Amino acid sequence: MKQLPQKNIAQCGTSLSLLLASSLLASSAFAQPALPAYDLLLHEGHVIDAKNHIDAVMDVAIKDGKIAKVAEHIPSTDALKTIDAKGLYVTPGLIDLHVHVYNGTGERGSYAGDLSVPPDGFTFRVGVTTVVDAGCSGWKNFEDFKQRIIDRSKTRVLAMLNIVGSGMRGDKYEQNMADMDGEATAQMALKYPETVVGIKTAHFGGPEWTPVEQAVIAGTKANIPVMVDFGTDRPTRPLYDLLTKKLRPGDIYTHMYSGLRQEQDPTTLGPSKAFIEGRKRGIFFDTGTGGGSFKWSLAVPMVKDGFIPDSISTDLHVGSMNGATKDELNVASKMMAIGLSLQEVVAEMTSHPAHEIKHEELGNLSEGSVADIAVLRVEKGHYGFTDMQNTRVDGTEKLVAELTIKDGKIVYDLNGMEARRWNEPLDPNAKYASRWTTFAPRPPDTHNTAPATEMPH
Ligand SMILES: [Zn+2]
Repeated sequence: MKQLPQKNIAQCGTSLSLLLASSLLASSAFAQPALPAYDLLLHEGHVIDAKNHIDAVMDVAIKDGKIAKVAEHIPSTDALKTIDAKGLYVTPGLIDLHVHVYNGTGERGSYAGDLSVPPDGFTFRVGVTTVVDAGCSGWKNFEDFKQRIIDRSKTRVLAMLNIVGSGMRGDKYEQNMADMDGEATAQMALKYPETVVGIKTAHFGGPEWTPVEQAVIAGTKANIPVMVDFGTDRPTRPLYDLLTKKLRPGDIYTHMYSGLRQEQDPTTLGPSKAFIEGRKRGIFFDTGTGGGSFKWSLAVPMVKDGFIPDSISTDLHVGSMNGATKDELNVASKMMAIGLSLQEVVAEMTSHPAHEIKHEELGNLSEGSVADIAVLRVEKGHYGFTDMQNTRVDGTEKLVAELTIKDGKIVYDLNGMEARRWNEPLDPNAKYASRWTTFAPRPPDTHNTAPATEMPH
């Protein structure tokens, strides 16, 4: 290494600070070069971040699992790894507000068992980084759900507790009003405030208001929203009363386009008076399309009337994943096929659901936020989208996830955007790859630097 020439110091004077500066310069020649400011840079993607009102081509820099900077131009020399996202959309990691993932108990015919799906199999491949389990478990079995699934999944799994203490295990349990205890449910919710984000009531067939009333007691005590699947339509408990009297502003009505419970005005085919009044009061409306909860004959005229969802969710389970629902991006593509903009559906899968569950830290790309990101492609072509009655709407656009990033690291990469070609040399920064990807590069084969001239036998 070279010492700074003595005359330079003399020319510049001999103040203490300059001497310090020159000695630092000299010693840095021995040290490793400093790492760039960012771990990963997504370059020139079209960022849609509803919370921050961004809808433009921007660069997104990530450092230590957090969003470090979103700006018009961030030089790639500032990052260990740069990925070209030109022509793609960069959004916050998607939040699916209504899924069923209490899988693996072995219980047949139960959403706390065989009817649920394992979350990681259905999330990253469609840009989803957070799911909310909608009431598979109640206060009695939540801790089993937590240790079995929530704590072991790569996906961020949040939960709404079923107002039924035993959870969503079939009619024998779900119709049992003696097992609907708002107080006990609130206590469990308050024990896990990071994970329990709501209370769910579902599938109730009786004429009573008990499940809704107990759910609201629990939701009020724990200061979290109630999500309602309103079960059997009963004249003793009209939808109008649910949305204008029983629920609180901020509670959530799921299966909004099911047509099973007075959602649609029979004359105008637009939203019913209950829906209009409920929205005015601040009730949120969620798709939860599921296996039997979405009809084009409702969705088309209601969207035409401007009654669009607050949140887009799947109600994912074994009966919907291969049916009309399929996955989160398919439901979003459906809504686009009947008139919603890309910007609207992205908001309904990011900042809106985060707001509904009072987890405003999720669903945005604010600097300092957790770096959960979906990189989406809008494919053009001819597509068909079905509903629970097996009727179809044709569309020309379909959303596809190219890349999913969770906590700053790539967890899904459809077309190997991040990977090097097999016969290219290793990136000099590859030794730092664990800072931006879960797919660790293996050391290059010692013998494959040149293509083989002979076929192996
Ligand atoms: Zn459901």
